[in-house]
Amino acid sequence: MGAGTAGCTCAIRAARKGLNVAIIERKEKKKIGDKVCGDLIGYDLITWIKDTLNLDYSKNKSINYIIDNVNTYSPNKKTVMKTKYKCAMINRHRFGQNLLKDTLKEGCKLYDATICVEPIINDNFVCGIKVRDAKTGKTSTLNSKIVVDASGAIPALRNKIKLNNSHIDTVIDESDESFSYREIRRLKKPLDDPKTAKIFMSGTYAHGGYYWYFPESKDIINIGIGIPRDKETYKLKDMLKTIMDNDSIFKDSTVISAGGGMLPTRRHLDSLVANGFMFVGDAASQINPVTGGGIALSMGAGLICADVASHAIKEDDVSESGLWKFNYLYGGRKDIKWKELNDYVNDGAPNAASDLLRIFAKNLNDKSLNFAFKNFLDVTMLAKVSYGQTHNPKLSQKMKIILKSLPRLPLLIKFTHLMSLMDKIKKLYMIYPKTPNAFPEWKKRLDIIYDEVYKI
Ligand SMILES: Cc1cc2nc3c(=O)[nH]c(=O)nc-3n(C[C@H](O)[C@H](O)[C@H](O)COP(=O)(O)OP(=O)(O)OC[C@H]3O[C@@H](n4cnc5c(N)ncnc54)[C@H](O)[C@@H]3O)c2cc1C
Repeated sequence: MGAGTAGCTCAIRAARKGLNVAIIERKEKKKIGDKVCGDLIGYDLITWIKDTLNLDYSKNKSINYIIDNVNTYSPNKKTVMKTKYKCAMINRHRFGQNLLKDTLKEGCKLYDATICVEPIINDNFVCGIKVRDAKTGKTSTLNSKIVVDASGAIPALRNKIKLNNSHIDTVIDESDESFSYREIRRLKKPLDDPKTAKIFMSGTYAHGGYYWYFPESKDIINIGIGIPRDKETYKLKDMLKTIMDNDSIFKDSTVISAGGGMLPTRRHLDSLVANGFMFVGDAASQINPVTGGGIALSMGAGLICADVASHAIKEDDVSESGLWKFNYLYGGRKDIKWKELNDYVNDGAPNAASDLLRIFAKNLNDKSLNFAFKNFLDVTMLAKVSYGQTHNPKLSQKMKIILKSLPRLPLLIKFTHLMSLMDKIKKLYMIYPKTPNAFPEWKKRLDIIYDEVYKI
């Protein structure tokens, strides 16, 4: 379900593994891929697509523009973390259409303008879906060995999967979701630094979130804002207007496109599978909780999802147990003898660590953020922690940080505690249970880490 980046990648791989794949998509074929987005991906994704899927997305007009640097600003803009990092601004619609074309080339069958309504459940197994034709309203059913829900941030089936003894989450806390609004604008004057993407942390302007400037060319910019759902999301458009009113580069600029959307900015679902059923992409919260970037993660996860589905079908076991490998492979466990292992990105554990950082940062005011940026974060550390990695500076550097942080030592102590929790959660994913019956005990340990991060 869903012909987005997760669904198409999963379909391509599954078809190559010899499975019969049908894709159900509510949009009309020509609209697939057309999505409100910041349009920014790390160039590494283009390389991964080439290396892993053997598809060249550097040449099929998927990319509009190349960016060379990413700068992150403290709320008072006095500290700037400058990173050299090659990124691509994609043509979101064409990227999606190219993925779809590659999916259909593999022989997958597309049911476009078709809305998934509910699961078909027999003997405690999901064994198909009920769909409605968007044009005629006619309903019909489709049966399958496995249903994959890749229907995005508001999953079509999450709260409708009612199975006995299942471990999937059916409800997500609203405070773990974010809303984002972005505009693509044509500027009156060309940018001074058109090869630099800029990210601004700001409590004042973005209420525990951030706003961005991503150039799409010398005089076209993708500007957007993302804030937690429990803040004043209804004001997003006004907030973006205030930001633009305060920056002369937007004087007399004109809107090319505008829109918003929801992002499930939290760790991925604790279990991604049930009898005959799998979640992937935004539907599984497989997104970076700090940056909100989810295109690469959804594709990486789509690939693992397809491999697990194909192994399960070959072994004739599509039960929760048969599909359980998706949980521990996505989390990052590699102690399994599959030749496909090298293709996997394993975003789960670092993203869970990033989720702790998100919770911590969301509750810091601008003053504390300014202090942290100035005194104990540096480029390496910031780049690492936003992607869920911890950083252990050398003793001399540690001493410098402590001295500089003396005026706000409690903040540094909390941050150090956060780092240790981030390490702890990653280690926990390395012992993600290999069978469902060990899951409740593991989940208790996960909950303890979350209780601790909320305390600090
Ligand atoms: C404003 C905004 C800016 C963003 N910026 C970036 C960025 O710059 N870089 C980045 O990497 N990520 C960004 N993201 C996140 C990124 O877009 C998502 O993480 C990614 O698209 C997830 O892919 P997906 O395939 O899981 O879901 P989607 O791309 O949303 O695909 C889901 C598909 O399912 C279909 N569908 C939904 N319901 C049904 C149904 N009932 N029946 C049939 N089909 C259905 C939808 O039509 C859609 O085609 C942004 C998100 C937002 C909202």
